[in-house]
Amino acid sequence: MSSYDPNNVFARILRGELPCRKVYEDEWALAFHDINPQAPVHVLVIPKGPYVSMVDFAARATDAEIAGFFRAVGKTASLLGLDAEGYRFLANCGANAHQEVPHFHVHVFGGRKLGRMLPRAEG
Ligand code: 5GP
Repeated sequence: MSSYDPNNVFARILRGELPCRKVYEDEWALAFHDINPQAPVHVLVIPKGPYVSMVDFAARATDAEIAGFFRAVGKTASLLGLDAEGYRFLANCGANAHQEVPHFHVHVFGGRKLGRMLPRAEG
């Protein structure tokens, strides 16, 4: 795993250097609309701390950070009105998962039927 790059785009959003369309924010997390949505609702939830991936987050974050982050994911899905019809949350980690931004994040998708979990073809 590579070390955390403090100039990645989500770090810059957290510092207010780049804008975002905010959905939810608390002490632990920031949720905002994805710039290139793949579903009618596509929101990213990021922890406020400097973590690259799920492995990094699980290893180095405090229990309070982990609890706070996952509560924020749930609050975000709830605020977006996704609970009744259903939604998906997903985290890409590393090269095989095509992670583009090296700051741990969860995608929240909803607003339409999302199909099966993974496409059959390699992409
Ligand atoms: P990944 O492949 O790392 O899981 O997904 C990164 C996501 O971040 C992509 O869906 C991409 O559209 C989104 N993204 C990249 N740059 C920006 C940005 O500057 N602002 C926002 N809101 N989303 C971004």
